[in-house]
Amino acid sequence: MTTPHVGIVGAGTMGNGIAQAFAVAGFPVTMTDIADAPLQRGLKTVDASLERLVKKDKMSAADKSAALGRIRTATSLEPLHAADLVIEAATENLDLKLEIFGRIDQVAKGDAILATNTSSISITRLAAATKRPERVIGMHFFNPVPVMALVELIRGLQTSDATYASAEALTKRIGKTPVKVKNSPGFVVNRMLCPMINEAIFALGEGLATAAEIDEAMKLGCNHPIGPLALCDLIGLDVELAVMQVLFEGFKDPKYRPAPLLVEMVEAGYLGRKTGRGFHAYG
Ligand code: NAD
Repeated sequence: MTTPHVGIVGAGTMGNGIAQAFAVAGFPVTMTDIADAPLQRGLKTVDASLERLVKKDKMSAADKSAALGRIRTATSLEPLHAADLVIEAATENLDLKLEIFGRIDQVAKGDAILATNTSSISITRLAAATKRPERVIGMHFFNPVPVMALVELIRGLQTSDATYASAEALTKRIGKTPVKVKNSPGFVVNRMLCPMINEAIFALGEGLATAAEIDEAMKLGCNHPIGPLALCDLIGLDVELAVMQVLFEGFKDPKYRPAPLLVEMVEAGYLGRKTGRGFHAYG
């Protein structure tokens, strides 16, 4: 079986996690971003994540350096011409993703599959920005990628059976579990998860309990491994807000309106773990 070359657009929380998952499974990876700084941060995150596995005796030092050696970086999209699968994991913004899809469509090989890790944006809409809509699919990984088993595979209206079959096979080859989902705002998991987090932020804004108390209550009362506000800090408050806006606009239903406190915290730049401050503080 040949090993496809995987291109990744965006080296942030998700992009570097996806790069790690493919590199550990033996795939050559090219990870791109707009500047060298996010690429270096991404590589550092992968290095630290693999080092934890080495320390726990779950990976050898040789395998770690081989995996790191499979990840190349670039500050332009041109090197993605070598990729058989390109996964877009850039900032959650429709206009930005439409522009990126138009550009990777020009750069990538004619038979390459273009996937997006979007949390909520229509795959059909992104596919329509390319000249190969049948080769566009949603591959929605979960955070933290190296740990989470699920990949939602989302078919746009135009996605071909062959594209779906390839994405499904690749998902399994990196040890993840695919679940087939129809194209709809927020797909399946975020349709339920993000409104729950949003409701926790309403509760915090209304002073029902402190952030620590809300998280403790949901952990102990619902047996969740992490509280909703701590999870929002992990996901990124900007990502949570973007998903709620897509749900609100997509369904035109006020039950999805973003909590005012969420909007204000994003305005303040309190985006969670990645900025050191969200609903909780990080050192
Ligand atoms: P992030 O902010 O951590 O990283 C985004 C990266 O994209 C940044 O490094 C940024 O510099 C880069 N970028 C922006 N414009 C670019 C461009 N034109 N070309 C290349 N790179 C560009 O965001 P994230 O949390 O990694 O989210 C990325 C995508 O994954 C979003 O679509 C998000 O909805 C989705 N997602 C996020 C999570 C999560 O828990 N954070 C989970 C599943 C899916």
